Amino acid sequence: MKPRRAPQSGQISYNTSQQQLNEVVAIIKLDPSAHELLRHPLRELHVTLSVKMDNGSTKIFQGFRVQHNDSRGPNKGGIRFHPDETIDTVRALASWMTWKTAVMDIPLGGGKGGVICDPKAMSTGELERLSRAYVRQLGDFIGPEKDIPAPDVYTTPQIMAWIADEYSIMHGKNKFGVITGKPLSLGGSAGRTDATARGGIYCVRLAAATLGLNLEGAEAAIQGYGNVGSYAHKLAVELLGMKVIAISDSNGSIYNPEGFLYEGVMAHKKNTGSITGFPGAAAISNKELLELDVAVLFPAALDSVITETNAMDIKAKIIAELANGPTTPEADTILYKKGVYIIPDLLCNAGGVTVSYFEMVQNAYGNYWEEEEVQQRLEKKMKTAFLAVLRTGQNHKVHNRLAAYIVAVERVAEAMKLRGWY
Ligand code: GLU
Repeated sequence: MKPRRAPQSGQISYNTSQQQLNEVVAIIKLDPSAHELLRHPLRELHVTLSVKMDNGSTKIFQGFRVQHNDSRGPNKGGIRFHPDETIDTVRALASWMTWKTAVMDIPLGGGKGGVICDPKAMSTGELERLSRAYVRQLGDFIGPEKDIPAPDVYTTPQIMAWIADEYSIMHGKNKFGVITGKPLSLGGSAGRTDATARGGIYCVRLAAATLGLNLEGAEAAIQGYGNVGSYAHKLAVELLGMKVIAISDSNGSIYNPEGFLYEGVMAHKKNTGSITGFPGAAAISNKELLELDVAVLFPAALDSVITETNAMDIKAKIIAELANGPTTPEADTILYKKGVYIIPDLLCNAGGVTVSYFEMVQNAYGNYWEEEEVQQRLEKKMKTAFLAVLRTGQNHKVHNRLAAYIVAVERVAEAMKLRGWY
C-alpha cells in the first residue's frame, strides 16, 4: 500500500507556516505591518497547461508559482511535480524559502512552484512537454534577476535542462541563469547533486559536537529515499561513520540492525524501482521507522509526518529535517520538552539552495569551481548559520526552529525596513 499524503496536507503546512511566524513575531515584537506583509506572498501565478500525451490525447494540468518575499534579493526555490500538490503547500514552501535564504545569509528571497501531475505515470516525452509548457506559461514571471527555480520533489537536472532551454528559446539567447540544479554540461555547479544532504550531514556533525554525542557506529533511520534521502545514507556512512538501519520510500520501509550499504540499496532500487523487498531486510511500517530508537532520524520525504499523534513516541536523539516542513508546531513543543534535538529544515536542508546560489554566481561570472571548493564554501556557510541559530536559541531560551525563525525574520524585516516597505 502506498502511503499518500492526505489531501488536507497543504492546509496543514500552510497553517504550520503561519503559526511559526506568529510565534516569532510575538517574541521579537515585530511591527504589525511587517507581520502582515510576511503573512502573504507578494505575488502568485496560477497557470493552466495543455500537454499533448503520447496516446494522441491532450491533457490539461494546473500549476503555480508563488513569490513570497524578495526584499533581500530575487525569489528562489524549487519546482515540485506531485499529484497532491496544492496552492497552499506551495505558499508555505515559498515562505520557508524566504526564511531559509535569510538563515543562510545569501542574497535571495523565497519562491516555490508546483504542477499537479503524477510524474511516475508519465513518459519522458510527456514530462518534457509538460516542463516546457510550464515555462512558457510562467513567461517573464521568472528570470535570472527575478525568480530562479530549481529542483524539488520529483523534478530532476534533466527537467532543469529543458526549462533552461525553453526559456533561452523564448528570449532568443542562452539564459541558463534562469534556473539552478542544471546538469554540469549546461552550467550546473559541481557538488549541487548531493548538496542538500551534505549540508544536513555537516549540521548533524555540529549538533552531535554540541550535545557531546559520539556518532561513530551510531544508528540512523532515513524516511524517504529520493535524491536527498539516498545521499544522506551515503554521507552519513562516509562522513560520520554511522550505521543506517532503516530506510523507506513511497512503497514501504525496510529494517536491518546490521545496517544497509548505500551501493547495495541503490542497485536494488535501480533494478526494481523501489527499496522494498531488499534481500535480508525486514519490512516495517513508516510509523515504526519514525519511532525507532536511533541517534539520528532523517525525515527526507514530504511535510507534516511528525505530528502531535506520534511525537511522544519518537525516540531519536537528533531529528535532522532534510524534508521541508516535516514537523508540526504541536509536535515541536512535545519534542522540545522531551529533549529531542531538532535541526530545523530552514537550516538542515539549506545546503541545496546554498549551492544553487553558488551556481548562480558561477553562471554570472562564467567561471566554474572545483567540487572541493564548492564543498569547502558550503561547509563554511553551514557552520556560520548553525552557530547563529545556536546562539540565538541560547539568548532567547527557545528551541532551534524558533531560533532559526528569529534569525531569518529579523534579517528580512531589516531589509524591508531599509527599502521603506513598512
Ligand atoms: N528545493 C530545494 C529547497 O527546498 C532547493 C531550492 C533551490 O535550490 O533553489 O531548498
